[in-house]
Amino acid sequence: MATLDVINPATAETIDSVPNMTAAEVDEVVETAKQALPEWLDATPGERAALLLALADVIEQNAEELAQIESRNVGKPLMASRDEMPFCADNLRFFAGAARNLEGKSAGEYIKGYTSMIRREPIGIVAGICPWNYPLMMAIWKLGPAIAAGNVQILKPSEQTPMSLLRFMELAKDVIPKGVLQVVTGDGVPTGERLVSHPDIGLVSLTGDIATGKLIARNASETLKRVHLELGGKAPMVVFDDADPAQVAEGIKIAGFWNSGQDCTAGSRIIAGPKIYDALLEALVPAIEGIKMGDPADGDDIEMGPVITKDQQDRILGFLDRAKGATVLTGGGTNGGKGWFVKPTIVTDVSQDDEIVQNEVFGPVITVQRFADDNQAIEWANGVRYGLAASVWTRDVGRALNAARKLQFGTVWVNDHLVPISSELPHGGYKSSGYGKDMSIYSMEEYTQIKHVAMKIG
Ligand code: NAD
Repeated sequence: MATLDVINPATAETIDSVPNMTAAEVDEVVETAKQALPEWLDATPGERAALLLALADVIEQNAEELAQIESRNVGKPLMASRDEMPFCADNLRFFAGAARNLEGKSAGEYIKGYTSMIRREPIGIVAGICPWNYPLMMAIWKLGPAIAAGNVQILKPSEQTPMSLLRFMELAKDVIPKGVLQVVTGDGVPTGERLVSHPDIGLVSLTGDIATGKLIARNASETLKRVHLELGGKAPMVVFDDADPAQVAEGIKIAGFWNSGQDCTAGSRIIAGPKIYDALLEALVPAIEGIKMGDPADGDDIEMGPVITKDQQDRILGFLDRAKGATVLTGGGTNGGKGWFVKPTIVTDVSQDDEIVQNEVFGPVITVQRFADDNQAIEWANGVRYGLAASVWTRDVGRALNAARKLQFGTVWVNDHLVPISSELPHGGYKSSGYGKDMSIYSMEEYTQIKHVAMKIG
């Protein structure tokens, strides 16, 4: 069997290897899912909830081990991966509740002589294709609503970061009924591609890059599969003149550099007012230079690890090389040693149509622009193809509400960025950041289909 090496990005050392599954091997997994489906379709909401609650317990009871695996495989600080585990458990518990609370239109005589009822039914076999930045958490976001809605599911972790999901499945093997939840490992092609082309899979949910999303949507059209896309972002942080520069600088330190900036909602474009611009940079440069970068294994005080691969490191540095005319205020290089590090970087003197402003860098790099008036701020913030998240910083309630209305993003935060996520609240994009929602009751829409049953009466 062909295998793929899994690498620790902080040391460039091989951790393990996993199967690179062929299309034929994926077909076998789908066959197992097909066999499991009829019985799982008979499971009551209470039984589905019980599975999700048991899975949440598995995460909670093994949180430290899973956090350690995640830290080593993604190169993220332990404080970050430890933070993700309680949320994963909470998210599964939320969907355990949601499984038992699906609501809809009341049955009634909408057509004379007929009683109509609306059924919300699972799709059947659904696939979830995950990225490498939050490996276990992104899988959990797909797992909760899929299982709550009564589907059976096949998950594919990123080829770079399969370890936490594989360990979770091993820990949970006694509580998962055969075939209800399975994992395939391998590259986008052939493993992911086969999930997308397989005629018996009814939905593919991807979290990944825009280019991958477009390809998957095209390929899924062959079987007219449903597609749910959570794609890239290029989040603006609009800072009005009346904001507090020190508070905003602290906000940017988290927003732009958490998880080495490898977050689809990372605050990567700072759009600052003419009067606050200088004071903001004065507070920001030392805050960013103070970020402690290193191998997370070196201690709990490491705030930022490497980026995920050598390719990603080269890609980020390529953005900086090509940003002619821009000023790199701080950062801009590697650590010069082992592992794939990029120093926390601030870039100024950029124009709205520059590549580094328009395209997702997905690394510890932010740009800072100075706007002339409120209209220009909103125009620049909206002036990219992405629409995942944005924030606005001001003490003026009217200004904040106006910006929140006009910003074309699926999430808008006021006076904060990367606000802690909550299972009750939706996450998803506008524009090229994709369609469909993760988390919250809205995500149940993605994993269900609606049937109208009309019965003649009298
Ligand atoms: P990616 O698109 O390279 O890969 C994502 C997944 O798609 C991987 O599992 C990969 O194997 C698979 N894949 C690749 N080609 C495929 C194909 N032809 N058919 C089927 N599957 C295929 O993304 P990535 O580099 O792992 O993750 C980074 C991207 O994810 C960034 O753009 C980031 O913004 C985005 N992201 C978005 C969200 C969100 O919620 N919107 C969250 C996290 C990450």
